[in-house]
Amino acid sequence: MNTDIHKLKERMKTLQPVNMRLEFKKGINNSIIINDSYSADIDSLSIALHFLQQQAKGFTKTVLLSDFVQAGRSNSLYENILEQLQKHKINRFIGVGEQMQAVMPALMAEKNSRIKANFYLNTHEFAQHFHSFNFKDEAILIKGARVFRFEEIATLLEQKVHQTVLEINLNAIVHNFKMFQQMLKPATKMMVMVKAFAYGSGGTEIANLLQYHKADYLGVAYADEGVEIRKAGISIPVMVLNPEENAFDAITDHLLEADLFSFDQLDLFEKHVQQNGLKNYPVHIEIETGMNRLGFNVSDTTTLIKRFKNNKFLKVQSVFSHLAASEDQVEDAFTIRQYELLIKAAAELRKGIGYDFLRHIANSSAIVRFPSLQLDMVRLGIGLYGVGSKQLSNQLQPALTLKSTIAQLKQVKKGETVSYNRRGVALQNSLIATVRIGYADGYSRRLSNGVGQMLVNGQKAPVIGTVCMDMVMIDVTKIKGVKEGDEVIAFGDGLHIEDVAKSIDTIPYEIMTGISQRVKRVYWSE
Ligand SMILES: *Cc1c(COP(=O)(O)O)cnc(C)c1O
Repeated sequence: MNTDIHKLKERMKTLQPVNMRLEFKKGINNSIIINDSYSADIDSLSIALHFLQQQAKGFTKTVLLSDFVQAGRSNSLYENILEQLQKHKINRFIGVGEQMQAVMPALMAEKNSRIKANFYLNTHEFAQHFHSFNFKDEAILIKGARVFRFEEIATLLEQKVHQTVLEINLNAIVHNFKMFQQMLKPATKMMVMVKAFAYGSGGTEIANLLQYHKADYLGVAYADEGVEIRKAGISIPVMVLNPEENAFDAITDHLLEADLFSFDQLDLFEKHVQQNGLKNYPVHIEIETGMNRLGFNVSDTTTLIKRFKNNKFLKVQSVFSHLAASEDQVEDAFTIRQYELLIKAAAELRKGIGYDFLRHIANSSAIVRFPSLQLDMVRLGIGLYGVGSKQLSNQLQPALTLKSTIAQLKQVKKGETVSYNRRGVALQNSLIATVRIGYADGYSRRLSNGVGQMLVNGQKAPVIGTVCMDMVMIDVTKIKGVKEGDEVIAFGDGLHIEDVAKSIDTIPYEIMTGISQRVKRVYWSE
């Protein structure tokens, strides 16, 4: 274009990267919002609608769409849009813009569209009618050309909470899932453990993604976690590790599969199935091999065979056990011994009961460390989040970032103290930042007094004084250009959750599952 290359090079540096993320947030009245207001063209609409359909199981699906400014007023474009909306079973459509208003209503009438539709000339006009919509239990895709400034609408829809968020990178989750899949033999199935709110990352959102990417099974700890997953429209099999008697109704009502580990519980569950007129109800048998948590003893196999052979009510779906120390090299002989006990028990059961079932024992670290323990299925947990496996650390992608913002900056003079009980002493004149996260959010109080560090502008700043319930102070004296409102990372890229965990003598599992529900989960996907 006849422009001097050096001038171009200089100016390129000043370009801001365009944020192309599909943002996914919790909205008002139990809605979810997928915000894709960065691009508006037919291809990106198709991708966004696909994502909406994947995440919106059980929700009303609404699309808010502006004119495609660049495309002009072409009827075929709008026909294409309508086809896409119908294909993805959209329930409600809100069109904003002059072209939209001119073309779409007539087109929808002509094609006998059943989609409920409203049209507005501009964003402001829609914003004025916003409250009459009573958005509730909806999955709302917001997609508009930049000039339409749909941010205004996104703000109205977003749940108002304080600014600490747990960001979940769905691309990283999918990447990690595939990494683990590649480690399996073609016939080995994959169960993903999504207990405890999917390790803090959001049970239904993660479960949806896993179903889409063809996980074979999901595992939860308690029945109500499974019920949540079913309510979100997830239909793949779900095993419940800890089915209590008072949850049996919930289990059979939602086609969840109980893990049976004692004869009392087996009696009760069998009776429940029988009384409800069910047959061949899928169950799992857990064998105790060394964890000493839940499970039948290996010596119970003879009795188990008697109970399950020709049992009309219960059908054994799998026989499994749980490893106590798969990540610990010192205990590898113990791990192998656990495996051997399981296959021996499973072989006896298979022979005695007379039909085939799945056998599984490997959790994340066993998948990585013991390819020979894969059996018929593995149970992936922490690895999904890119955490916990040293051997794979450069192939897995950390999926979680806990971040907050600076509420206030203050100059503290040498000798002054910071926070409760005056434990944090300024050893020099210091710049102290107050961050909007505390132990009530899951930022452990054990990170007080320099044990914890946070990232500000990519640099580490130590915690000064004790962590408070809703806030924590960090020393940013050495960091250049810090401003109020700046983002602060508690863990994530550049500050590994493993290291944070180690500094307070715990494991990433505890930190992840301890992030409280008031911390907004924000999902994104590129
Ligand atoms: C939590 C759990 C897993 C997954 O463990 P990770 O170490 O997170 O991979 C597997 N099996 C059972 C029975 C579990 O409770």
